[in-house]
Amino acid sequence: MRQMIAGNWKMNGTLAGIAAYAAALGQGVAGVDLLICPPYPLIGPLRAACAPGIAVGAQDCAVEQSGAHTGDVAAGLLAEIGASHIILGHSERRADHNERSALVRDKSRTAIAAGLTPIICVGETLAERDAGEAETVVRAQLAGSLPDGFTGLVAYEPVWAIGTGKTATETDVQAMHATIRAALKKQLGEPGETMLILYGGSVKPTNAATLLATPEVGGALVGGASLTATDFMAIAEAA
Ligand code: PEP
Repeated sequence: MRQMIAGNWKMNGTLAGIAAYAAALGQGVAGVDLLICPPYPLIGPLRAACAPGIAVGAQDCAVEQSGAHTGDVAAGLLAEIGASHIILGHSERRADHNERSALVRDKSRTAIAAGLTPIICVGETLAERDAGEAETVVRAQLAGSLPDGFTGLVAYEPVWAIGTGKTATETDVQAMHATIRAALKKQLGEPGETMLILYGGSVKPTNAATLLATPEVGGALVGGASLTATDFMAIAEAA
């Protein structure tokens, strides 16, 4: 199965940097799906600058389709300016904006109705892992965040491994991805058997090959290392 390497620029990137970044990605890497999720204002310019085979996505959207919601951005508009995918339920949104799984599920419905493919993020905090609750937390997030008939991707991102330089061990990743696979099958039936499960959390060129070769890892969601095109390409080449 083709793996996906997705970049989450978070609140980074500039209009001035788009051309060089897109040029460095070129046509991408054969056999691997590449996706870049920049801040909203850079979606259109990045879409225009990148080769058609490289997907561009958003990092969030409003739960409503349109209306009086100052500062929010409609999924339909994101699709219109060239986004094909959308990250939803990232731990930074769950923590900084108090987003609960029910809201993530509703946003996912809105995004799918607009033609976007959601990447739903789940993952436990260090305190939850230390308390032996990691699997319970992740199962509950999946049950709450995925709408019935969900079509999209899931990203396992242990909160303690995001932006910290700490990567989950191969054993931890394999165990949690197996847990997620079992939950997806139970929740979604047949589509849950093949749905891509990305790993995210301090993925770098130096650890990508090992992580991407781990059973049930369908690709990577990359934060910090996606800001440098050469690092992002090196990760994609490891897939
Ligand atoms: C992320 O925020 O999705 C992420 C995985 O970040 P980093 O790669 O920087 O840990």
